[in-house]
Amino acid sequence: MQISAELVASAAEARDFPRDRLPEVALIGRSNVGKSSLINALVRRQVARTSAAPGKTRLANFYRVQRDARPAFYLVDLPGYGYMRAPRPGAGPRGREAAAEAFNRLTEAYFARGSGIGDQGSGPSSRSPVPGPRSRIAIGVLLLVDARHPGLEADLDAWAWLDTQRCARAVVGTKADKLARAERARHTRELESVFAVPVPLVSARTGEGLDELWKLIARIPSRRTAP
Ligand code: GDP
Repeated sequence: MQISAELVASAAEARDFPRDRLPEVALIGRSNVGKSSLINALVRRQVARTSAAPGKTRLANFYRVQRDARPAFYLVDLPGYGYMRAPRPGAGPRGREAAAEAFNRLTEAYFARGSGIGDQGSGPSSRSPVPGPRSRIAIGVLLLVDARHPGLEADLDAWAWLDTQRCARAVVGTKADKLARAERARHTRELESVFAVPVPLVSARTGEGLDELWKLIARIPSRRTAP
């Protein structure tokens, strides 16, 4: 497999986002969940700076990726959304307001550019300075959650918020190598129960699950551009 990957934009504001309208697959998750490490593992080189880099967490980083002869797309490393909190026991329905707090303005501006399945170009894009409804971009999002900690409130809030956005989405459990075999099965069940979707586990360290993740990434554009 031939993979090319280069960082083409580190955006602090929406006006810095690339404008060439390539499809995008965004990675979102708590700070330190392993977004940068996963990008590096997927493209098999160190293109993404890991969390130690100062200021990194406030930028949206766009990596132009091409695998074999497939169409190019952007992998986008969005700012992390806060730190681990204990799961809220017996938590009731999460209000939109609380969920929105999980994200910063850059992330909201990012998703305002996205298209959804059957999208006709209506929606909240007027809040975003670029681009307008006619040029909505195909966006898929992978919510990364630490496989060791199923059901963190911040992750559930993020998932609830993504539900309000126009994008295909999936959940992926990171750092699978830190779980013993029995724990993997149990944590996968818990993750799939709280998110109500299949949750593949991956490890940037060992490469486990990356082939499946590439397949998932390849399916996201066809899901979101389906008529
Ligand atoms: P980000 O803030 O989401 O971009 O997270 P990073 O990619 O910077 O990773 C945060 C920390 O988790 C770093 O110390 C990584 O080495 C570690 N890490 C990331 N992915 C894995 C993984 O798959 N397995 C293990 N064991 N550690 C990981």
